[in-house]
Amino acid sequence: MSDYSFDTMQIHAGTAPDPATGARQVPIYQTTAYVFRDADHAARLFGLQEVGYIYSRLTNPTISALANRVAALEGGAGAVCCSSGHAAQIMALFPLMGPGLNIVASTRLYGGTITQFSQTFKRFGWSATFVDFDDPAAIEAAVDDNTRAIFCESISNPGGYITDLPAVAAVARRVGLPLIVDNTLASPYLCRPIDHGATLVVHSATKYLTGNGTVTGGVIVDSGTFDWSASDKFPSLSQPEPAYHGLVFHQALGPMAYTFHSIAIGLRDLGMTMNPQGAHYTLMGIETLSLRMQKHVANAQAVAEWLERDPRIDYVTYAGLASSPWHERVARICPKGAGALFTVAVKGGYEACVKLVDSLNLFSHVANLGDTRSLIIHSASTTHRQLTEAQQIAAGAGPNVVRLSIGTEDAADLIADLDQALAAATA
Ligand SMILES: *Cc1c(COP(=O)(O)O)cnc(C)c1O
Repeated sequence: MSDYSFDTMQIHAGTAPDPATGARQVPIYQTTAYVFRDADHAARLFGLQEVGYIYSRLTNPTISALANRVAALEGGAGAVCCSSGHAAQIMALFPLMGPGLNIVASTRLYGGTITQFSQTFKRFGWSATFVDFDDPAAIEAAVDDNTRAIFCESISNPGGYITDLPAVAAVARRVGLPLIVDNTLASPYLCRPIDHGATLVVHSATKYLTGNGTVTGGVIVDSGTFDWSASDKFPSLSQPEPAYHGLVFHQALGPMAYTFHSIAIGLRDLGMTMNPQGAHYTLMGIETLSLRMQKHVANAQAVAEWLERDPRIDYVTYAGLASSPWHERVARICPKGAGALFTVAVKGGYEACVKLVDSLNLFSHVANLGDTRSLIIHSASTTHRQLTEAQQIAAGAGPNVVRLSIGTEDAADLIADLDQALAAATA
């Protein structure tokens, strides 16, 4: 399937006509369990000597179709779906981490991720050190003997900044650690982090992959290229794993070790499972991913250019603008476009932002992004409100900015709506 172009793979990869019925579309296998052929078959499945379906907390044919499709689009060896983007982050780290261990993460992340990493991590005995990922020396300096991963977003929420993935991957290689990239805002159509040196890619499928605000889901894709046995840092993959009767995952499963570990231990014991109905919606969404992303990007460019010229605006962070410090990275990292999420600093600060949000008719005021509908949120009073003001500003979500997620409507209609709302907000 990897011989085909993206537009073909987004429709066909990971799926074939249903072997039982010939159904052309992927059926929703709404079943919890699967009948074993005989006792020997059951024993072989539980021993990982044969791959097959046991119980839908672990695997399900509809969900497997989605995992295989996303793996193909990202250029990975395997993928695992789970219940949300946040579940994907915990699941992605679970095989690598243990009490007392840490990750080094970018300061420019989704607000919920910063909270998960800085607060909830503590309950597991994990920690995160946040540094500016535009400074590779700072990333390297933050790595210590207990670091097990480096984490960033390709295009980052909320500012739409673009991370220099090859530079970050070079640091990860030098220190012998996996690089995990959250590719939610780019989608594999705009950016393929594995091509730039990432080990693992995580997604909130809630956003562009599904594309219309209908489901909550997550995906982890493994490149299959990291040597888990090169050091003694990843014993759950490189040494006998007591949680799976002593199986040495890397030795037994090679490039699929991480994927099987995430199913056999991660989904088995954490239970952050996607549901087949949700997988179906996401499969439907992915069929039109490239078409939607092209329109998202074209609209974002038009709206950002219009806003940047407007005297009521201080600045616009869209990396697709020639004025952006990250503009040079678009051609290198995501040549099909800089995505459709950015922030806008409104003259008049917090008050004007709140009035703007309340005056829009077409834009919806919601805590979501990557919908066909255009969305707006005032991050400082919502998604980033649990952060300190310094953290908000570091994350690009200061009190004077609103975040726009540009949809696939008509750009002129979106601009007209912003024009009337800005008039009301700055009157
Ligand atoms: C939304 C989002 C998440 C979390 O995903 P959920 O599906 O809401 O759990 C993680 N990272 C980024 C960049 C996001 O936008």
